[in-house]
Amino acid sequence: MTAYQTLNFIDGKLRHPREEAYFEKAEPATGETISRVCDSTAHDVEDAVAAARAAFDTGPWSSMPGAERAGLLMHLADLLQANAEALAVTQAREQGRPLAESTMMDLPLAVDTLRYFAGWADKLEGRCIPTAGYMGKPTLNYTTMEPVGVAALIIPWNAPLMICIWKLAPALAAGCTVVIKPSEEAPLTISALAPLLIEAGFPPGVVNIVNGRGPSVGRALVNHDGVDKISFTGSTGVGKTIAADVAGSFKKLTLELGGKAPQIVLADADIEAAVAGVAMGLFVNQGQTCASGSRVLVHRAVAGQFAERLAAAAKAVSLGDPLSPSTTMGALINQAHKDRVLRYIGIGKEEGARLIAGEEPVPGKGHFVRPAIFVDVRNDMRIAQEEIFGPVGMIIPFDSAEEAVAMANDVEFALSATVWTRDLSAAHRMASQLKVGAVAINGWSPLDARLPWGGFKNSGSGHDLSQTSLLSYLREKVVTAVL
Ligand code: NAD
Repeated sequence: MTAYQTLNFIDGKLRHPREEAYFEKAEPATGETISRVCDSTAHDVEDAVAAARAAFDTGPWSSMPGAERAGLLMHLADLLQANAEALAVTQAREQGRPLAESTMMDLPLAVDTLRYFAGWADKLEGRCIPTAGYMGKPTLNYTTMEPVGVAALIIPWNAPLMICIWKLAPALAAGCTVVIKPSEEAPLTISALAPLLIEAGFPPGVVNIVNGRGPSVGRALVNHDGVDKISFTGSTGVGKTIAADVAGSFKKLTLELGGKAPQIVLADADIEAAVAGVAMGLFVNQGQTCASGSRVLVHRAVAGQFAERLAAAAKAVSLGDPLSPSTTMGALINQAHKDRVLRYIGIGKEEGARLIAGEEPVPGKGHFVRPAIFVDVRNDMRIAQEEIFGPVGMIIPFDSAEEAVAMANDVEFALSATVWTRDLSAAHRMASQLKVGAVAINGWSPLDARLPWGGFKNSGSGHDLSQTSLLSYLREKVVTAVL
């Protein structure tokens, strides 16, 4: 099959990296080379930030009315929709996940997110605030909402296009210009945005894309003085490095980091619905999601039958070619990540947990791992505490709602949680006690452009999506006129 080539997109033009260096990336399902990726350097970052700065400080973008920015975002949404099938195929191949997940989730969500934030672009209203006046004279006090400037958008590989749009859409609606740093593991769908941005009519320099490695390109971007805001999604470790790098610079920072989501199944839950929902939360994207519901806390009265059914769901997963319609689970992103997930399965066994699904290794060069379910798990085991980022679930029994909440909160992450029950009072009580950014009741983490998405503790700070994220690309200025 074809190998794709990425280029950088700087000041409205596709460009090779200044040092003409590239590296190869393997296709997860086959292990064969799928793309040649620009190995850019700080020089390319310099060019991209200069272009973004010029477009923000002096270019047509800074004076463009919000309604026109909205029109450009709507146009981009239409183009994304028109190209959705091809983009979904590219994502399936470079990321290894089943095509249907991209066509049913990532692409529609990305299009909807662009349209949602387009609606905000001409509604960036300030406030008029009464005060007691100034030295006996009345005053008129009002605020204006201004874009923060140049935003660096640093993207992970697990849902690259969708997460890129989660950041790009509010940044552009707010009037910022951006430099995007795609993951070196999955740069293709973001690179494919470049011609669409040109066709939509975005002025040069408003959106720039620099491909390359995290420690070189990502870090140079974070530390560049011309960058005013960083929105990062990725691992907690890199998030901490970024927070340390920008400490003292007062750049605005949004960090969307790792997770270890509890899924709490109460004794009165609709077990069939809960098993189906828990299985989706565990297996979608091969378990490579920040909201992966891997810690399954089940009331002891139903834990046995729940485990049996979840193991059956794991065994029914059809592993294979991400482009085949019969595939329900694809391949992990790369060999190193596959080795890491298998290592965790080994750690679980060493810790005394018992595997009831997922023993058999998968032969061949693809990075496949069969979904694994552990029982006899304690909440203090490493497999129950650390982010595995693969299709590995663990069932932990509990006897009371208090115990379930205590175990759910007893972890370094705090992104999302689900409660499965027919008792809505119990569900809302638990929702208020769970110390996470998002709680779902009888469903797995519904993502929607209108709902804020973000975590606490080691899951990050700040939000993507919703009006909350729009505000993070704006700053409020106060004007006081003494009358
Ligand atoms: P990662 O941290 O390895 O990389 C993320 C991005 O940061 C990549 O583009 C990488 O090149 C870049 N990067 C690496 N080092 C950098 C540095 N020093 N400075 C600046 N940029 C740097 O994460 P990943 O493996 O791509 O993604 C998986 C992680 O992302 C998981 O932990 C997952 O939970 C998390 N994630 C969180 C959310 C959320 O919304 N909270 C969503 C998706 C993924």
